[in-house]
Amino acid sequence: MSALSSSMVSSRVVLRQFSSSSSSSSSSTQSTSRKSSTSSSSSNNRRTKVQRAIRAQAVQQHEMTEGGVLLPTGLYCPDTTQTFRRKTRTIQIGNVKVGSDHPIVKQTMTTSDTRDVDATVNEIMRCADAGAEMVRITVQGMQEAKACQEIKNKLLQSGYTTPIIADIHFAPKVAMTVADCLDKIRINPGNFADGRKKFEDILYETDEEYQAEIDEIEEVFTPLVLKCKANNVAMRIGTNHGSLSARTLSRFGDTPAGMVESAFEFARICRKHDYHNFVFSMKASNPLVMVQAYRLLSYEMYKLGWDYPLHLGVTEAGEGEDGRMKSSIGIGALLLDGLGDTIRVSLTEASELEIEPCTRLANLGMKACAEKLGGEDKFTETKRDFQSFERFNGDLPEQKADETIDYRNVLHRDGSVISSVTVEQLESEDQFYAELGCMLAVGMPLRDIATSDSILLRQAPQASQEKAMRSIRRLQEIGCGVLVPEAELKKNPVPNAIAIVSLAQAIAKEALPECAERFAVTLNGSESNEDLAKLKDIDAIMLLIQTEKGRSRIHSSRRIFEVLQANGVKIPVIHHKHIVDGDKSDVVIQCGAQVGGLLCDGNGDGVLLEYVGNEKIPLSFLRTTSFGLLQGSRMRNTKTEYVSCPSCGRTLFDLQEVTAQIAEKTGHLPGVAIAVMGCIVNGPGEMADADFGYVGGAPGKIDLYVGKEVVRRGIPMEGATEELIELIKEHDRWVEPKEKAAVAA
Ligand code: SF4
Repeated sequence: MSALSSSMVSSRVVLRQFSSSSSSSSSSTQSTSRKSSTSSSSSNNRRTKVQRAIRAQAVQQHEMTEGGVLLPTGLYCPDTTQTFRRKTRTIQIGNVKVGSDHPIVKQTMTTSDTRDVDATVNEIMRCADAGAEMVRITVQGMQEAKACQEIKNKLLQSGYTTPIIADIHFAPKVAMTVADCLDKIRINPGNFADGRKKFEDILYETDEEYQAEIDEIEEVFTPLVLKCKANNVAMRIGTNHGSLSARTLSRFGDTPAGMVESAFEFARICRKHDYHNFVFSMKASNPLVMVQAYRLLSYEMYKLGWDYPLHLGVTEAGEGEDGRMKSSIGIGALLLDGLGDTIRVSLTEASELEIEPCTRLANLGMKACAEKLGGEDKFTETKRDFQSFERFNGDLPEQKADETIDYRNVLHRDGSVISSVTVEQLESEDQFYAELGCMLAVGMPLRDIATSDSILLRQAPQASQEKAMRSIRRLQEIGCGVLVPEAELKKNPVPNAIAIVSLAQAIAKEALPECAERFAVTLNGSESNEDLAKLKDIDAIMLLIQTEKGRSRIHSSRRIFEVLQANGVKIPVIHHKHIVDGDKSDVVIQCGAQVGGLLCDGNGDGVLLEYVGNEKIPLSFLRTTSFGLLQGSRMRNTKTEYVSCPSCGRTLFDLQEVTAQIAEKTGHLPGVAIAVMGCIVNGPGEMADADFGYVGGAPGKIDLYVGKEVVRRGIPMEGATEELIELIKEHDRWVEPKEKAAVAA
């Protein structure tokens, strides 16, 4: 039996096993086989219970191998201790090849109205000039489809052979039209064949109902597959976490397993017709969900012997540093495991600006593969399970009876930020407090929401440097920890400092300098498993992982966490990243990929970014980047979370301008997540993580959401931001912004 037929059979077997105890008989028509959730509440409750049971069963069975054994961990990429690029077939997209035998391909998407041929052509040329190797354009209807031929011709006349990709939602006929002129079609399995569904909660109570829909998909999708095959047009089966079909949601919920199954339904049809010129994507706005979904996809492909390339992206990442950070965490984590063949960094910015971070990430991934990053230690991971997220939390410090100062706040329960500072910075006092994120009250620093929890002093001030010593004292009074290397403390004692010692010193129980009551242990990744296990009996306040030169942070830290967890060591772990070169963008990309890649596995309790390169990188930038890293890794929220789409030809308002306006008025609401979406094409599920949504409903009109529910429709744009604020107030999530004068940072 071929891989194709065997996978189809096993899928049908699984589908039969999903059968519920429902009395509904099978039916060939949607109208009689589906039940919508508009019936009575008792019926809804019953359905909810049945749905939950079916989803749990479906997800569980998806996690089973044929022998009924839970999947072993670590098989989603070639090697979790070293970067090897996952072997894929080559996909041809116009004149560009995508796959593991080729460099990672950079792409972006236009924001122009596709019907405006000249604007779209100019934008594509700008993107290509900036380095985009493929460009996607939105094609929502026949008018846009007709413009595509002209766009392609004008580009060729201007000497641009950049492959153009059509972004298709809901519209099989439109896809058929553009398959005559463009190089690749992106289809969304969640909405391609389901029409403009209303995202209602539908329960598919029998396998027959479910299968009837799969048959409908095959009927609608097959002509496109055959046409793409005949025209040598490529395809992306692009699943989006926020727009899974009602059918998928009914069986799997909005889980990574549902995302993978949604894509596989379409892939099986492609394979049935011997069409293989396609890639997969599994996008989500939450980097943790995105990483988990891609890993599961890769894992499932290994099981089936499939070798299709991966298009990576974090969707609705937002703008600026936050958008770059989220993308770096999600895309970077996967690239360092050798996954990913083409990438897009979605930003709420001009499309050509996406190429710079995209290039940096692609280079990071290719360098890691070329150098076969890691591999210093081969070990078997038994604790990290890529399918079930669990945070490994260390125990926060407790106060001891005879201690001089309070150490309970030197770390934060949701993730800590430690800032590396110089004596010169300490001496600047007010400016230093501001850079550290403190509020100021009559010259005294006070903790604010994004104040560093502790500081690192490579060099300590001498007792005669009064201003610096005063700054240290004032920080300690507000609970901020002061870490200093043990050798430095012997030269320049700092009262109540936390001494940094090596693991060997800690094991040997060497005496601390007299001025230090507590100590932290620094690890460089070369420590043996036996020595790391001895940490179980060591009373360190925290561990700092500062990997030595030439050693891979992500891989050697994985071994450290494996040993710590295996031995029940509960000391909090801080990722101490020593950055020796690069500019601000490098800092964001490198830290997002390497440290974020660990945090999104739940490994680590905080971050210490220490920059020693030649650029002038302010302390405040490193601090806000650290907090951004924790927020992007879903640990600690210190500012409003925005889920904003990058905009495209469907966008119904000026997304960049509106996002900036909203951010200006609501940026002081940590813990509140606001989605700003150009349209609802990806469904309210895309705002699953958002508390409130501001969504283009029609030209000049905005719909406001609370969670996934639309609560105000068709509000004129001019007053929509104020209405959004009212809505936030109604739900008791609003606080008045602090007077700027009172806040120094
Ligand atoms: S949500 Fe934004 S990027 Fe997505 S289709 Fe709508 S306007 Fe385009």
